[in-house]
Amino acid sequence: MLEYKALWHDRIVQKVGTFYPSSQTCNQCGFINSLVKDLKLREWSCPTCSNYNLRDVNAALNILSEGLRILTAAVGAPDAIYACGELVSPEAIQAEIVEAGITRLQVV
Ligand SMILES: [Zn+2]
Repeated sequence: MLEYKALWHDRIVQKVGTFYPSSQTCNQCGFINSLVKDLKLREWSCPTCSNYNLRDVNAALNILSEGLRILTAAVGAPDAIYACGELVSPEAIQAEIVEAGITRLQVV
C-alpha cells in the first residue's frame, strides 16, 4: 500500500533494517542508549551531548537519516546527505535518484 501510494506521487519508499536502533540512538551525536529499550521511557537526555530526545521524534529523525544514507549510498554520492552542514531534503535526494535513472533499489 505504501509503495503504491509512493509511486502514485512519484516518491520512493526506502526501508531501513528491522533492528536499526532508531529510538535508542541520539540523533545529534549517534550515542546508543540501551536504557531506551524500555518502551515506557518516552524521553531522555543524551549522556554524551545532553541533547533532549523525545522517543518518537528522535526515532523519526534517525529513520530519515538512515533512509537518506542508504539512498545516497545507492546513487554513489555518500557526501550528499550533508551540504554545508545542512541536511539535504528528501526531494533533493529523490531528484538525484531520478537523474541517475534508478527506479528500483535493492536493499541488503
Ligand atoms: Zn547525543
